[in-house]
Amino acid sequence: MRVLGIESSCDDTAASVVCGDGVVLSDARHSQQKEMSELYGGVYPKAAALGHAKYIDRVVEKALVDASCTLADIDLVAVTIGPGLAPCLSVGLGKAKELVKLHDIPLMCINHLEAHALTARLIDQTLEFPFMVLLVSGGNCQLVLAEGVDEYRRLGQTLDDAPGEAFDKTARILKIESSDIKGGVAVERASERARARGDAPVKFNEPMIRRRDCNFSFSGLKTNLRRKVKLYAEAQFNGTDACNAGEEHTQTVHSAEHSTGGDYIDHAHTDDTFVSADKKIKQQQYHDALAAGFQDAVFDQIVRRSARALLYADKKLGLQVKSVVISGGVAANSELRRRMTTMLRERDVALACPPIALCTDNAVMIAWAAIERCKAGVPVEGDSEQAQSIRFHPDWPLGSDISK
Ligand code: ATP
Ligand code: FE
Repeated sequence: MRVLGIESSCDDTAASVVCGDGVVLSDARHSQQKEMSELYGGVYPKAAALGHAKYIDRVVEKALVDASCTLADIDLVAVTIGPGLAPCLSVGLGKAKELVKLHDIPLMCINHLEAHALTARLIDQTLEFPFMVLLVSGGNCQLVLAEGVDEYRRLGQTLDDAPGEAFDKTARILKIESSDIKGGVAVERASERARARGDAPVKFNEPMIRRRDCNFSFSGLKTNLRRKVKLYAEAQFNGTDACNAGEEHTQTVHSAEHSTGGDYIDHAHTDDTFVSADKKIKQQQYHDALAAGFQDAVFDQIVRRSARALLYADKKLGLQVKSVVISGGVAANSELRRRMTTMLRERDVALACPPIALCTDNAVMIAWAAIERCKAGVPVEGDSEQAQSIRFHPDWPLGSDISK
C-alpha cells in the first residue's frame, strides 16, 4: 500500500509518499515561514493560501518523483481537512480532490492533530496505546489521551495563546527575532546566552498555579514581559537602576497607570535612539535574561500540567499511561525535553519525541495517520466521486473534551 499525504493547514505546503509498513519514500516541503515573517510578522491566511496555490503542484510532483512513482502507484490520497486556516486547508483539499478524480483513487480526510499524535508510532511501532500526547506548537497547546486510533480524550488545552505563538511574540518584543529562525529558537538561544554569562533568569510569576485542571494560559506572562521591557527602558532613559526596574518600579507604574487611565506605559520614554552603546549591550543582556525567565515560566507550566494530567489519568480514569509523546514545533526545544525527561523519569513514564523534522508540520504524518486509520479499520471517506463533496473543518477538535 502506498499513500500520498498532503498538508497545507498553516504555512507549510507538504506532500509525501509513505508505504503501509511505515517506510517513508518521500517528504517534499515548501515553507513560507521566512516570507510570512518578513512581510507580515506572522502567518497571514490569505497570503499563505496564495503561496500554497503557487507551490502545491510542484510539491506534490516532487513527492512523487522522489518516491520514484506516479499516481498510478498510489492506493490512497490522504489530506488534512482541519484544524487549520480555512483558505490554506482549501488549497490542499482542492488539490487532493483533483488528483483522486483524475486517477480514480479513494480519499481519506485527516485531522492534523491526530496526525501529530500518531507520528510517534511511525518512529516506534512498538509504542502502545494508551499514551499521552503533549502537543505544543505555534497554533496548539493540548494534552490528549490517545487510547486508540480515532479514540482521543482531551485533558487540557490553552485558554489563550499557544506556547510557540507566545515565543514568537516574545522574540518580537525583545527584538531578538530574525526571519531566518523561528521565534522559539531565538528565545531558546537568548536563554542559553544568559545562562552562559551566568545571568539569572528574570523571575515571572506562574499563572494558573491554583487552578485544579490541566489547562494552560500564557497571555498573562506576555503582558508581564511587555511591562518589564518598558520599565527597564524607561529606567535606563532616566538613569535609574535599570536592572531592578521591573521589580522596584512596579508600584509607581501601577499608580501612574491608574491616574492616567493606563496611558502611562505607552508614553514612557522607551525610544532607544539616544541610548549609548554600553547601555544597549546591557539592555540586550537584560533581554536575554528576560527570555530565559519567560521560557522557564512557560515550561514550568507545561511540565506541571503534564504531571497533573498523568495523575488525573491514573486516579480518575484508571489509566496507567506508560509513555508521553511530545509533538509540535516547541518540542524542538532541548530545555523542554530535559525538563519533561526529568519529570517523567520520576514517574517511570517513557518520553517519546519524534525527530524534530516530524514534530513540525509535514505530510509524512498525514500519510501515516491514514495508514494507521486503515489498519484500525476506519473506513475511508469515499471513492473519488464521493470525495468531491468533502469540506474542510478549520475548528475540528481532536477527541472529546474532558478538561473541565
Ligand atoms: P500548528 O502546527 O499548530 O499548525 P505551526 O505550524 O505554527 O502550528 P509548528 O510548525 O509545529 O507550528 O511549530 C512552529 C512553532 O514552534 C513556532 O511558534 C516556533 O516559535 C516554535 N518553535 C520552533 N523551534 C522552537 C524551539 N527550539 N523552542 C521553542 N519553540 C520553538
Ligand atoms: Fe501542526
